Amino acid sequence: MKADKDQVVSFHYVLSTDGAQVESSRDNGEPLQVLLGRGQLIAGMEKAMQGHAAGDAFAVDLAPEEAYGERHEGRTQRMSKKYFQQAARLKPGMTTVLQLKEGGQRQVTVHKVGMTTIDVDLNHPLAGKTLHFDIEMIDVRPATPEELEHGHAHGPGGHAH
Ligand code: ZN
Repeated sequence: MKADKDQVVSFHYVLSTDGAQVESSRDNGEPLQVLLGRGQLIAGMEKAMQGHAAGDAFAVDLAPEEAYGERHEGRTQRMSKKYFQQAARLKPGMTTVLQLKEGGQRQVTVHKVGMTTIDVDLNHPLAGKTLHFDIEMIDVRPATPEELEHGHAHGPGGHAH
């Protein structure tokens, strides 16, 4: 079976930028499991998955516009420490996740830590970077009616309710 929209793919990936490894799904053991065609992956990855079958190993390079977009200067914002879950542990250069008032969350980079405030860079940490993915396709299967209704994959490496 070849990967396409409305199918669930399981895969391992190693992400590197500028020749250095950033993260690997093998660090968590389980492959990542994703329902294709629902915007769960960055655009370039959705495209790269198309047509691949279980057992395929391939590499893909994604320019910023196919990944996390360009980096914008001047997107540093000063925020009260109360908005951070583990403010005491944060140091410049670390990334953390902010819960947004309007729902959802955003990954930010800590710029400067003050007494009561933290300056964060609102650019995604991978903005402006070309991403290199090494992918190993583990499984491709049709999504269940429930998964299609929810818009995400269920089970190990997917979504747990
Ligand atoms: Zn669900």
